Amino acid sequence: MTPSIAEQSESGRGRRAFIGLGSNIGDRVAYLKAAVAAIPDVDAVSAVYETDPVGGPEQGMFLNLVARLQTELSAHELLDVCRQREAEAERTREVRWGPRSLDLDLLWIDGVTVDDPELTVPHPRMFERPFVLIPLNDVGADVVPDDFCPVDDGVRRVGVLSELEGP
Ligand code: ATP
Ligand code: CA
Ligand code: CA
Repeated sequence: MTPSIAEQSESGRGRRAFIGLGSNIGDRVAYLKAAVAAIPDVDAVSAVYETDPVGGPEQGMFLNLVARLQTELSAHELLDVCRQREAEAERTREVRWGPRSLDLDLLWIDGVTVDDPELTVPHPRMFERPFVLIPLNDVGADVVPDDFCPVDDGVRRVGVLSELEGP
């Protein structure tokens, strides 16, 4: 039988949202672990991928992953979550697309689009980035375009976050 609206909302409160995380300075695993632990409503985490930097100056390789949330937080509340986690990692911005201890991008929220001076959702560059789409494919394959090939020389799976070295 088809569940009632009330039962549907009871079985999954809020909406699905996806946040992309990246780090290429210092203890990258530790930054990612601390951030994922402090994001509310996470219900799945992709594998961790080591990725070649794209754009920006010459810099070290990133670790990237995507966290999936089931959340009642609004888009702007989720942007605040991203900024808070970056602040805890003492993220600085010297050069566009430069090295960073931690970057969180709000990639996608089911059924939600935003386009204002502070926030654009879906993230405007997500669909051109294998370092986003490959981890996203682990936890939100339906969001990834059907014709995307989830294999790329610049994106190498290194393991599951909880099993990697770091505090
Ligand atoms: P890119 O956006 O190309 O991945 P970046 O992550 O290095 O580059 P930041 O310096 O981290 O860019 O972000 C600059 C600003 O982008 C943020 O302060 C935020 O206001 C804005 N922004 C707009 N849309 C988003 C989004 N979907 N997720 C995160 N930040 C966003
Ligand atoms: Ca980014
Ligand atoms: Ca960002």
